[in-house]
Amino acid sequence: MARIHHLNCATMCPYNARLMAGEGGWAEPAHLIAHVLAIESNDGLVLVDTGLGSADVANPARTGALFRHVVRPEYLLAETAIERLRELGFAPADVRHVVLTHLDVDHAGGLGDFPGADVHVFRTEMDAALNPKLRERTRYIQAQWAHGPRWVPYDTEGDRWFGFESVRAIEGLDVEVAIVPLVGHSRGHSAVAVRDGDGWLLHCGDSYFDRRELQTPPAGPTGLRIFQAFVEADRRSRLANQQRLRELAASHGDEVRLFCAHDRVEFERLGGRS
Ligand SMILES: [Zn+2]
Repeated sequence: MARIHHLNCATMCPYNARLMAGEGGWAEPAHLIAHVLAIESNDGLVLVDTGLGSADVANPARTGALFRHVVRPEYLLAETAIERLRELGFAPADVRHVVLTHLDVDHAGGLGDFPGADVHVFRTEMDAALNPKLRERTRYIQAQWAHGPRWVPYDTEGDRWFGFESVRAIEGLDVEVAIVPLVGHSRGHSAVAVRDGDGWLLHCGDSYFDRRELQTPPAGPTGLRIFQAFVEADRRSRLANQQRLRELAASHGDEVRLFCAHDRVEFERLGGRS
């Protein structure tokens, strides 16, 4: 069974807790995390997402004014994946693969810390990030991949994963990792499924932001719903895909453990320490 580490690679503190977390005061910040997986495999470490990287911490301005002043990350070096992994006894060169849910600033920031890794991503998302439309230019930070990563883009080929289109990433690995396109939040946003014993983990990225959004009927903090609508690339797809996740959680919640990138409670339930 694959050894899987849950890492928080950026704490973000947007105002205010009542709106963004559904509890706490109007003047208190909420605490969102950046949920990263580090999977030990026969071919080194596989990261799913990267959070913010050391270059973002050294130069917060590069992450953009909106992200910096509205989402309000703490920019702590100790939270970057490279430092989290060092703490676990790994070297940066141990990371041979990175699989991304999407290329937003708080997911791709650590790419530059692992320049030797192959970067596996849904082709639509890679195309969007490398050739952003005008309104996408604030979400995709070109400096985060200016080092020229070895991109490995994927198209779906009709493989099904619990009824979703998917594609198996990283051939030859002793751990099954699948990219499951779930577009809407960004143009090529995807979930990433990782085989974990008899079941699966499904990193849902930013398909939803709060565990209560997967309830039927959905609930969750108003501020987070507004934020998601503000940054979405395609509302209809985003809402439809969120509904499909709700159905997956209801019908296969025993086999598939779903979590999103930014919910601290889900992270702690899976054994992460934030
Ligand atoms: Zn995000």
